Amino acid sequence: MKIAIYPGSFDPVTIGHLNIIQRAATIFDKLIVCVMVNAGKNPMFTLEERVDLIRRVTDDLPNVEVDSSSELLADYARRRGSCVIVKGLRAGSDFENEFQMALINKKINPELDTMFLTAESQYMYLSSSMVKELGHYGVDLSDFLPEKIIPDFQNKLGNRA
Ligand code: ADP
Repeated sequence: MKIAIYPGSFDPVTIGHLNIIQRAATIFDKLIVCVMVNAGKNPMFTLEERVDLIRRVTDDLPNVEVDSSSELLADYARRRGSCVIVKGLRAGSDFENEFQMALINKKINPELDTMFLTAESQYMYLSSSMVKELGHYGVDLSDFLPEKIIPDFQNKLGNRA
């Protein structure tokens, strides 16, 4: 069984992320979307909330599992029996960083390969941080976030204001 892992912070999951999830789920037998703990970031949503949001927007995809981890990605992949990391690639800015991470992961776990799915052109500009920025200005978010989670996002914004 070909198991792939799609890691990220997903704070929150956007329709750009969801597009990658849907496409990767058709390529692999099983896709594990893993919310990674990143000590350097100060997230809007807790780890549990981010997992819950992704579960809700992927509930129609039976071969997608949602998990979280504070392990090194290369170790997590080994433990879960996966040898493929899936990443979404937007403009050139993602490339340098992702290329470096792919090489490091391969160095730590030589069985681990990273595969890139290019972002769809309509999602090239989309990032969780941009959505958070726009949210503060009351912009309509239906082109950026899955419809189901917009109320969660609005509530969170309201609580933090
Ligand atoms: P961000 O906070 O920038 O949205 P994440 O860490 O949550 O980033 O992203 C996880 C993965 O999803 C990364 O591989 C990132 O390149 C990819 N990704 C993020 N947004 C998009 C998008 N709009 N289209 C395609 N891939 C994306």
